[in-house]
Amino acid sequence: MHGTAGRTSLPPVPQPAAPPAPGRGGGLLAWSRALPGRGGGSGSPPGVGAARGAVLALTSRAGAGWAPPGAGGVPPGPYDGLDLALHVGDDEAAVRASRRALADELAGRGAREVRYLQQVHGADVLVVDEVGPGGADEVPDAPAVDAAVTAVPGVALAVLVADCVPVVMADPVAGVVGVAHAGRRGALLGAPVRAVEAMRGLGARDVVAVLGPSICARCYEVPADLRAAVAAEHPVGASTTWEGAPSLDVAALVLEQLAAAGVRAEQVPGCTAERADLWSYRRDGAASGRTAGLAWVPA
Ligand SMILES: [Zn+2]
Repeated sequence: MHGTAGRTSLPPVPQPAAPPAPGRGGGLLAWSRALPGRGGGSGSPPGVGAARGAVLALTSRAGAGWAPPGAGGVPPGPYDGLDLALHVGDDEAAVRASRRALADELAGRGAREVRYLQQVHGADVLVVDEVGPGGADEVPDAPAVDAAVTAVPGVALAVLVADCVPVVMADPVAGVVGVAHAGRRGALLGAPVRAVEAMRGLGARDVVAVLGPSICARCYEVPADLRAAVAAEHPVGASTTWEGAPSLDVAALVLEQLAAAGVRAEQVPGCTAERADLWSYRRDGAASGRTAGLAWVPA
């Protein structure tokens, strides 16, 4: 848990503007990018190819029932906002309503279902090769993996996070997408790169990756022996908090691995522990919702 004393003298990096509020043009997605497929760019020969491209997206907490602290009224409760996780103690009906709302919004952008995973901090990758039964947005007994890839149009892959790094990826020309959830353990196991390899197995060649907001190195304090162990193998992952305590930079680990794998990667700025519109397990404890990283090939 980070304090505030150090931050008055050593301010954090500038924060981007808060995502647009739902219902005011922003919908439930805090960030999204549509990547054109073959023939999607200007200058492409007419009639060549029919690739649909891909969409990468991130949600934030700022959904229904959430107001920024200090905005007046009742302070937000621990799960207020767009919580998409069924495993964190939130009201199941509320979470399913949030998932339906997100599925409805994505349906307008070519996604027929949203495929959630049962994340276990591992590095196994699920290859999704068909739209879920009945096009449902809820597949029972979600597989216990931390990454998934698909070339099936209409399947939106989702990873859920509160501090961990959501990695969303696509080769929009090949029509292949992937997602990975990378906390400390998943990053050290190389989960995002395993997903890239699985995407290449589906025909992806030029993969682009985007890392969503996660807990930053200034906030993610860890025991000194853990930092030392990580530093011995991956120096880029060792860091220091504002207060001078040992910490890890998980996003840096992921970026280094993706670069080594030949993947162009960028990071959407923002620290989950520092932004009220994002959930943080480190800040809020077990009563913390989850946002999603999403990737799909529009159907
Ligand atoms: Zn931070």
